[in-house]
Amino acid sequence: MQYYRCKCGKSKAWGFIGPSPCTGCPSCGTTLDQSPMDHTLPLPHTFITKYDEDTGKPYELCGICLRTKAELEQRELVAEEV
Ligand SMILES: [Zn+2]
Ligand SMILES: [Zn+2]
Repeated sequence: MQYYRCKCGKSKAWGFIGPSPCTGCPSCGTTLDQSPMDHTLPLPHTFITKYDEDTGKPYELCGICLRTKAELEQRELVAEEV
């Protein structure tokens, strides 16, 4: 397991593969990295429009981290409270 953290330390992650390059800390805005020194700004999410198989409703999905726009917005709200 690897440990990743953002520059300010509010966002942390554990895992075998690093967080997506478009995932940043909602507080300090840097990417999560193994080193406390080496933080860069996250890439912008690359949204592609998909259509729900059941309802046919369009939704936006990031082609890099494979999260929907709604999911990402939700996630950032949750992270802010920590
Ligand atoms: Zn941070
Ligand atoms: Zn993304």
